[in-house]
Amino acid sequence: MKSRIRGEVVAWLGLLVTGTVPGTGSAAVPPIPAGLPKYDLQLTIDPKSHTADFQLLVTWTNRTSVPTQSLVLNFYPHYEIPPENRLLLAKTLELLRLHPSYGMDVRGKHGILRAINLLQLRGRPGHGGLLPYHYQRGNSAAIVVDLPEAIAGGESVTLELLGNIRLANKQGRWGHWDGVTYLTNALPVVAYYDRDGWHETPFVPWHQPFWNEAGIYTATIRLPRDHLLACSATVDSESIGVDGFREVRMKPFVGRDFAVVCSQRFQLFESAVKLPDERTVQLRCLAFPEHAYYAKEILRIASEALPVYSRWFGAYPYDQFTIVESFFGWNGNECSGMILIDERVFGMPHTAVGYAEYLVSHETCHQWWYNLVGTNGYSETFMDEGAATYFTHRFLDRKLGKNNAFLNWPRGLAWLPNIQRENYRYASYQGAIRRGDAPAAAGDLPEFGHLIGLFSGAYDRGSKVFGMIEHRLGEAAFFDFIQGVVKKYSFEVLTAATFRQELESYTGQPWVDFFERWVYGKDLTDWAIVSVTSHRQLPSAVRAEPAGIPRPHPRRVEVVLEQKRELDEATVVGFQFAEGDGYPVRIPVGPSHQEIRLAEYQAEVVPLGPGKVRVQATLPEEPIQVAVDPEGVLIDANPGNNRWKNPPRVQLVPFYSMLNETDLTNDYDRWNFGAGPWLGGALYPDPWYTRSTMIGVRAGAYRTQVFTGGVYVAARTDYRDLVFGVDGLLDHWPWPRTQVGWNFERRLAGPIGIAEKDHSPNRAVVFGRYVFEYGSSLYLPPISYADLYSTYQDNFLPVTRTNVPGVIRPNSFWVTGLHYRLNLYTPYWDPERGIWLDLAYAGGVADLESTVGTHQLRGEFAAVRALPIEHPYLSAVKAAGRLVLWGAVPDRGQFFALGGGTLYRGFDLAERQGSFLWVVNSEIRWPLAMNVRWDALDHFVGVRDLYLASFYDVGAIYAHGKSVGGVAHALGMGLRADLAIFSFIERAVVRFDVGKTINAATPIQFWFGIQHAF
Ligand SMILES: [Zn+2]
Repeated sequence: MKSRIRGEVVAWLGLLVTGTVPGTGSAAVPPIPAGLPKYDLQLTIDPKSHTADFQLLVTWTNRTSVPTQSLVLNFYPHYEIPPENRLLLAKTLELLRLHPSYGMDVRGKHGILRAINLLQLRGRPGHGGLLPYHYQRGNSAAIVVDLPEAIAGGESVTLELLGNIRLANKQGRWGHWDGVTYLTNALPVVAYYDRDGWHETPFVPWHQPFWNEAGIYTATIRLPRDHLLACSATVDSESIGVDGFREVRMKPFVGRDFAVVCSQRFQLFESAVKLPDERTVQLRCLAFPEHAYYAKEILRIASEALPVYSRWFGAYPYDQFTIVESFFGWNGNECSGMILIDERVFGMPHTAVGYAEYLVSHETCHQWWYNLVGTNGYSETFMDEGAATYFTHRFLDRKLGKNNAFLNWPRGLAWLPNIQRENYRYASYQGAIRRGDAPAAAGDLPEFGHLIGLFSGAYDRGSKVFGMIEHRLGEAAFFDFIQGVVKKYSFEVLTAATFRQELESYTGQPWVDFFERWVYGKDLTDWAIVSVTSHRQLPSAVRAEPAGIPRPHPRRVEVVLEQKRELDEATVVGFQFAEGDGYPVRIPVGPSHQEIRLAEYQAEVVPLGPGKVRVQATLPEEPIQVAVDPEGVLIDANPGNNRWKNPPRVQLVPFYSMLNETDLTNDYDRWNFGAGPWLGGALYPDPWYTRSTMIGVRAGAYRTQVFTGGVYVAARTDYRDLVFGVDGLLDHWPWPRTQVGWNFERRLAGPIGIAEKDHSPNRAVVFGRYVFEYGSSLYLPPISYADLYSTYQDNFLPVTRTNVPGVIRPNSFWVTGLHYRLNLYTPYWDPERGIWLDLAYAGGVADLESTVGTHQLRGEFAAVRALPIEHPYLSAVKAAGRLVLWGAVPDRGQFFALGGGTLYRGFDLAERQGSFLWVVNSEIRWPLAMNVRWDALDHFVGVRDLYLASFYDVGAIYAHGKSVGGVAHALGMGLRADLAIFSFIERAVVRFDVGKTINAATPIQFWFGIQHAF
């Protein structure tokens, strides 16, 4: 082994001495800058022992004039999750709908460096002596190598790094999962060095904190002969070694990283595309055979994107582009010459091609904005994510039309909820704006707090920055500028400051203000149309009309505009005369104190006081629409007020459900009204009451991050009656983190099949909520919040079978209370660990034959934990427990029932009732099948995990100071199916429980529910 390495070292040094720079074989590709780091890699991947052994020769040349006596490398697999970051990371994986235990490796430190040898220093051989090095304090992914002499400008050093990477059974950048082995951003790479010294970035596992020079790579990869290899570089030659391993020699490659993915399960799908410079790029997709549909679609999408981006930015630099299926939880990941697409994207319903179009086009765009033009991914991730997001939407606007749908429903099902691209793009940013925490575009990754913050800042705001630059320069100049920048910074690093300087030298204008406002600032603009009036132009101002030809009469149109937010940014007012005419008449406006007069259209823009302007123009005919910033170029806090006419979207559908009332399925910038036959209800308990599953008809109104609500007539399945109901939630009102909600239900008919009719279950609640911590679920309330509520309720409990003398059934009560909830179950649909705390107090009046005062207290504490045992089966077993205490006065009232599907599962609601109860639940969830793909309905829904639950519930209820029937013990079993809805959009558990009280002659109870009982 050692002698073989030495031989190769000599060959490598020979390459250095001759100064040969491996090229990419085409004149069309950008020249490779002098002095880039060189890496020569010998890699052996052994999926059996789950290790990757490497010998890496690194040559670093000091490209600055500032000498350094150390060399700093980033070696990300040496990262270890700090304990204080575990919850944030678990919640990030939950947001991605991945079980944290699948992607989070609390052990960490899988990258092991055995030795660093000095091979060459300042042109002299280093005799292979060992070099001292240490991991940096506070940055466990940074290696500092102490050199015996300083490296001055133009001088170089060559090191030999020997080490290995343990490939844990975790999804992510390095590891193995379901037969796929991956090593991305895993090999040591020299940190970025400039006149200010080394810039080793800390590892941030929830994004790409990478900041390094492109490298020149040569590599030999050894892997089992039955594994297909996906790699940044192209295969040069291969042979089978005596140990049966395949030895693959790669052609020299220049890129930002060097990624390797391999699997026995892969099938190779291929195609090719011709670029504008007549070069042909081979397209390869390595995916599972069962994912052939998306493999072919993804090849098509890439083949459509590469030529366009090549035209926009400059030629794609390689003769090969690889797309590989892997397991990492987020949907797509860029590497050099290669992109990774998550297995769950390949497993999407086939109708979701529109989403694949977006995702693959975005990741492909990173071949320019990340790989070719390098960025500081730790502090300025918007420089690649903002660019990739902006150019991808620009590309898709032209290819598929503005705001195309992600889901391609079959004919006749077009009424099903769909996700339009603009709604997908802007809904979560609207949330950030309404919450008042929309961040700046640039900033260190940890400053964004979490992935949603980063999306709002670097992606959403960052993409708008690129759009505003295009708007200021005009299309032709913008692309001239962009092509120049890409050419100049190919295989180099472009910082935001340098980008600004390039803009300044291209335009001859200062751009400091623009960057301060839009890149580094958080402020927003909000142009709004206040009014539009028009009248026929006076004949004197109009040229004579030719006789006999009827012409539309010119109109003098007056538009009053208001700019309501901090940033008074210039824009245009556009006038539309026919649907889709692109607003042919445009008048510049702003800043709002600016007076503007144009000869064309006799236009005048007159300031009307703070933020307001009046625009007057003579137009050839009456406009059908007037819009300020018609293309949505600006970062506008409320795009819903930018149009004169903003009619709501109205839909009558044959089936209406909670999917019709989400941010993703509604237009983000206007009111949405829908109605139809309805299946609905809440999937979580509220302190006032739990809403029943309902079947009926509903008319709903929705405005993204503003309002959701409706009216309905429906059968309540829990009470077998028919009700009229109203519900609503005003979000971010009256303050950014508060909500006001209500529900009212009045019985119209029923109950059916229940004899007693002495009570009439009407109920109502109004609540105000403060949100401490938002969650990511589409169907659950926030992680942590407090409510102030007032509720009136008739008695919903069935009449009890176990009567205690002197105890009275309340007819109704009206109480006002406070409630606090903390739900740290992670992931929320099938927790691996976490606690749940629920506390409520309410006081008011109850009708106990006469109206009396009442006070009610409720407390609940629950915890779940996967067994802390390192074992493939036992570590997936979960134990859950809960303590419930409820009490109310006066104690002669029957306020609570002991039984129920989410309380004591051995009794129904009628069995025992009283005024004080305690329950202790304990449950073990035994995996029957884990990580399966039992899909139905074109992968629309599928089982991922199946559990058998065994439980023991114990509790007692008291009335009038006496126990009702004593302490009850119940044993039971259940089934839990963890469902994936639309692959990675949402997750939920469906539950079936059978319980029996063992110390009472009561019937077996059957319960069905969504989510675990506690
Ligand atoms: Zn991206």
